[in-house]
This record gives sequence, C-alpha cells and structure tokens, in this order.
Amino acid sequence: MPMYRTHYSSQISEELDGEKIKVAGWVYEVKDLGGIKFLWIRDREGIIQITAPKKKVDPELFKIIPHLNAEDVVAVEGIVNFTPKAKLGFEIIPEKLEILSKAQSPLPLDPSGKVKAELDTRLDNRFMDLRRPDVMAIFKIRSNVFKAVREFFYSEKFVEIHTPKIIATATEGGTELFPMKYFEEDAFLAQSPQLYKQIMMASGLDRVFEIAPIFRAEEHNTTRHLNEAWSIDAEMAFIENEEEVMGLLERLVTYAVKYIKEHNERELEILGMELEVPKLPLRRISYTDALEILNDLGKEIPWGEDIDTEGERLLGSYIKEEYGEDLYFLYQYPSEAKPFYIMKYDNKPEISRSFDLEYRGIEITSGGQREHRYDILKAQIAEKGLKVESFEFYLKPFRYGMPPHGGFGLGAERLIKQMLNLPNIREVILFPRDRKRLTP
Ligand code: ATP
Ligand code: MG
Repeated sequence: MPMYRTHYSSQISEELDGEKIKVAGWVYEVKDLGGIKFLWIRDREGIIQITAPKKKVDPELFKIIPHLNAEDVVAVEGIVNFTPKAKLGFEIIPEKLEILSKAQSPLPLDPSGKVKAELDTRLDNRFMDLRRPDVMAIFKIRSNVFKAVREFFYSEKFVEIHTPKIIATATEGGTELFPMKYFEEDAFLAQSPQLYKQIMMASGLDRVFEIAPIFRAEEHNTTRHLNEAWSIDAEMAFIENEEEVMGLLERLVTYAVKYIKEHNERELEILGMELEVPKLPLRRISYTDALEILNDLGKEIPWGEDIDTEGERLLGSYIKEEYGEDLYFLYQYPSEAKPFYIMKYDNKPEISRSFDLEYRGIEITSGGQREHRYDILKAQIAEKGLKVESFEFYLKPFRYGMPPHGGFGLGAERLIKQMLNLPNIREVILFPRDRKRLTP
C-alpha cells in the first residue's frame, strides 16, 4: 500500500535502527554545511532530523534540501540511524524526498513561537498557530477532555441526547439571545438546553447528558465569555436533593482531570503544567458563608446579590491560600439570584437548592435541584416576571408525571481554560466567536 508516512516522530525507537521508514511533515529548519545538509521536519508529534551527507545520498536530493522553505510540506523515505551525534538521538539518512506542497514566504506567523504574535494575529491564522507545539497541546487535551467526559457519563449509565438549537421565544431570561429568522417566524439560537433536558426527565430516560454549543449574545468582551461556547449538560431524575447532583459533578470533573494527567503527560509538560487531582469531596461553601469571608477580605456584597467577578477571584485566592484547593462549590444561593426552575428550600424559600462549581476563582458550572411540582413551578415563572403562556411546551410534561430531578451545565471552555490555568478563554476554542470575531 503506497503511503507518505509509516511513522510519526514519536514512534521512532531504537528497534528501528537501520530500517527504512517514511516520515512526513512541515519543514522546520534547514542547515547547509557544504558537504552535509540537515533538514528538520515537524509532524504532529515532534521533530525529526534528516541528515544528508554528500557521499551517502542521491545528488539530486542533496541539491534540493537547501532550496526548501520553512513550512513546505515534504515526505521523506530513508534509513533510521541511531547516533549520539544527533540532537534527538537519531537521524534519517534520506533516499527519497518529495515536496508535497510549497509554503509562501514571509509566513503570517512564526510557528516556532520564538517571535511572539498578538492573540488576534494568531487567531486570524489559527491553522498556522496550531503548528506551535504548545497551542497544539491545548487542542489535544481538549479532545481528551471530551472523550473523558463521554466515557464518564456512559459509565454512569447516562444517555446522550441532542436537543434543538433553534428555539422559539422566551427561554429562561437572563442572558441575551441571538435572534434569527425562521421562515415567517422569529426564532432564537439556544442559550442552553435547560428546558429540553428537563422535559426529558418526564420521558423515563432518567439520566441524560448533552454536549453541544450554546449561543449567548453577551455584549461584553471578557477573557471568560464567548458568544458560542460548548456546554456539557446533565440532568438526572429521582434525586432527593441537590447534593446528589454535586456528587456526580465532582466525580466528573475529577475524572477529567485525572484522565488528562494520565493521558496527556507530554502535552502538560510542553505547557509547563502540573495537574493536581482534587480529593473528594470538594469543599462546599454556602453563599452566606462566602459573603462573610468576602466581608472579612474587605469586600461587601449585600445578601441577595450575585457574587461578582472580583468577589469570585478573591474567594478563589483565599481558598487556595487557606486550604491549597483549586476546586470548590458555592451553594445555597439566594432564590432571587437564580432562575425560576431552581427549587427553593421548603422551610427557607429565600434560599435555593443551587450550586456553582468554581475552579481557580472562576465559575465553571451552575446547577441545582429543579422544581418539579407543577403549581410551584408555574408560580416561580410568574414571580420572575416571565409569561407563563410562553412556557406551555415546557410546563406540559410537569402535568403528566415528572419525577424529582436536577442537573448542571458545565462550560467546556471554562473547564479547560481553568484546568490549564490559561489567561484567555479564546486559547481553548479553535475559532472563537466573540464581539468582534466572525471569521475565520
Ligand atoms: P457567568 O455569570 O460566568 O457569565 P452564567 O452564570 O451566566 O456565567 P450559566 O447560565 O450558569 O452561566 O451557564 C452554565 C455554564 O456555562 C457556566 O458556568 C459557564 O461555565 C458556561 N458559560 C456560560 N456562559 C458562557 C459564555 N458566554 N462563554 C463561555 N462559557 C459560558
Ligand atoms: Mg451560572
């Protein structure tokens, strides 16, 4: 079978010494020392040295090497030679070299990363940005985060579902939606699968999850918001309290961290990142206690108001300093700060069965037990100033047998950004959609 590549750089081990193999990739560097020419090519896994001594290689091939440009795509067939003289411990003595594609010069970016580029330039040239090993490392890790999350849910007997992303008016309120035309009607892009995953609790599937984009017309430009983000949503039935959902979530996140630590050692090393697998159970701090801590730190938030970004950050560094922990729950938020579908404590209705999961001082998840009792739910919709009629499609299942349930929405980009301690959420999504960015 003809092919351009038999081995990636990472697959070349001493057993291959003296064997003929084929490698392929992008020209990283060329060096001409007269009687000997060097070529380094980069593939997905690393760098390979091609050594061409005049006496040992085909004269045509020998002539071509110095004319190669950085980032040309080449395929090389040759003999593996393990030698301490080579920087990487081995080299390939080429027998054939084929140029598969030429790269223009100058390049829009320096793929070695030696010349630093602005984030905007990098995102405009994402294809080349990914040729930097540290950038590629992020996306190899992202891939495995999604794999780990799926694995976890399947092992916990969750069923993967897919709900519509084009929706009619009036969802939860709160964030702004992107309007769109749907034939003769007005529609919106879904901000969350919330109402649909809850409807599924009346179906008997019991435990569902969905991994899909959410669309939010957030006007502000921050380092933790995107206008198109990926949400990992779960909903489970027959729970007695929100604690069961928190238990599931903390196991999920720990599973993902552990999975990355075990499967992406090389990528973590490239990123200079050491991952700590958190010990369970994670710390749980009630909203009221959090306000007290913040008060002691000199930040006053009136009871009932949401904890703002600065408050979250302060709490994050306090918990890190005090306990050495990165992940923790904030829970029992005031009912007025949470959406209508969250259940209130029967004996203390000003407090809700809600929680956020915080990772290094940033919210990565919101969740809680949902209100499944029809009359109360209806009242809570009205209480939030929303039109009960627009929720008929959602309310109907609650009239025909709806078990108690709860769930969460975990932002995939938030999780990955915080796991890798990166400064900007745009680093962890290939083609970010933000206030200014619609291409590429
Ligand atoms: P925040 O207050 O931090 O903007 P939120 O409370 O509005 O977030 P939720 O509606 O609770 O967000 O959504 C659940 C999760 O989805 C969040 O915890 C977060 O991880 C993720 N998420 C929400 N909005 C965005 C966004 N604009 N970009 C990236 N991730 C988001
Ligand atoms: Mg939230």
